[in-house]
Amino acid sequence: MSLIVHKYGGTSMGSPERIRNVARRVTKWARAGHQIVVVPSAMSGETNRLLALAAELAPQRPSAAYHRELDMLAATGEQASSALLAIALQAEGMDSVSYAGWQVPVRTDSSHTKARIESIDSERVRADLDDGRVVIVTGFQGIDELGNITTLGRGGSDTSAVAIAAAMGADECLIYTDVDGVYTTDPRVVPAARRLHTVSFEEMLEMASLGSKVLQIRSVEFAGKYRVPIRVLSSFTPWDIDLAEEMQSGTLITFEEDEKMEQAVVSGIAFNRGEAKVSVLGVPDTPGIAYRILGPVADANIEVDVIIQNISKEGKADFSFTVGQADYQRTLDLLREAVAPAMGAQEVVGDPNICKVSIVGIGMRSHVGVASKMFRVLSEEGINIQMISTSEIKTSVVIDEKYLELAVRALHTAFGLDQQTA
Ligand code: ASP
Ligand code: MG
Repeated sequence: MSLIVHKYGGTSMGSPERIRNVARRVTKWARAGHQIVVVPSAMSGETNRLLALAAELAPQRPSAAYHRELDMLAATGEQASSALLAIALQAEGMDSVSYAGWQVPVRTDSSHTKARIESIDSERVRADLDDGRVVIVTGFQGIDELGNITTLGRGGSDTSAVAIAAAMGADECLIYTDVDGVYTTDPRVVPAARRLHTVSFEEMLEMASLGSKVLQIRSVEFAGKYRVPIRVLSSFTPWDIDLAEEMQSGTLITFEEDEKMEQAVVSGIAFNRGEAKVSVLGVPDTPGIAYRILGPVADANIEVDVIIQNISKEGKADFSFTVGQADYQRTLDLLREAVAPAMGAQEVVGDPNICKVSIVGIGMRSHVGVASKMFRVLSEEGINIQMISTSEIKTSVVIDEKYLELAVRALHTAFGLDQQTA
């Protein structure tokens, strides 16, 4: 008998019919002798619907008090879907009970709308499991020290599921979603993209942080810290397929690098459209420049990604970095109004129409020339590289957004990732 956590995304919970399918799948697992904890998302569209209602009524200046109420509101989505699933399980003849985050409790810090899990009490859940119940715990939410309901940020149910799996010492965390695993790249951009049977935890971490939307990045960090094996699989396979077959159908995120079946140098290509570039031109090339530019940006809570500095002439340097598109205007204003004048820079320019394309693979550690092959492929397509950043297992380039599809397709083919068509 093993203890397994199932997580179902919003699409999988999207209607009574789909919830019934989830209940049947869970029942199949439980009847096979496993202890099951289920962590559902809100029904698809529900979180957006609730947050849109709040936006209509929002005060001019959203305060901490407003963010508290957003959590109070958004947490109801998961409370509803969890209760519905418990009811559907009971209809299948399963003994089941649902708990909101605060009832477990899942303890978090107090950063409303982006709280972090601090600890999870597993006792209550374990007692129910031992009594033969299927236990459902709401995704996405917890409770802070003062008893306020908190939420974990969009997509946070993935993190709830992995954290619960860690706290319970579960054997595996199965993330059921609307795709059937992790792909070499987004199949909507490259139809020849392939599903990976296994991907290393480190690669998954890079892919999640580089823009792959399959898992919330924090859930991958959690899995790494507590070594929780995660499997991503589709909730659209028939619920009654054989258990062993079901386990083969997704992507396993593994910690054993040798277990990797596909020994490709590059495992996947990630991309992110949502970035923008800003450049401060003609800054005096003296110690402390990077700090004087990026310090105020960080203080404004703006996340910076790729950074480059190059010397132009006469002791002046150009300094460029990327930020999320949502922060673009704010970053430009900040630099133009305060930062650049104070340091005697010549000009601040920007480009919101860029994107970042990255190749990822643990094989890059032991192979030379992977990055240069990437640059060659892009140059053969006539694509200009504006910025480059590398780490041990990835190389990212910033390019004009209009070349995104072309770049991703060309790299996918060049690194041998295209599906072999029979
Ligand atoms: N319901 C939340 C959201 O839509 C959390 C989740 O689905 O993971 O972001
Ligand atoms: Mg999700």
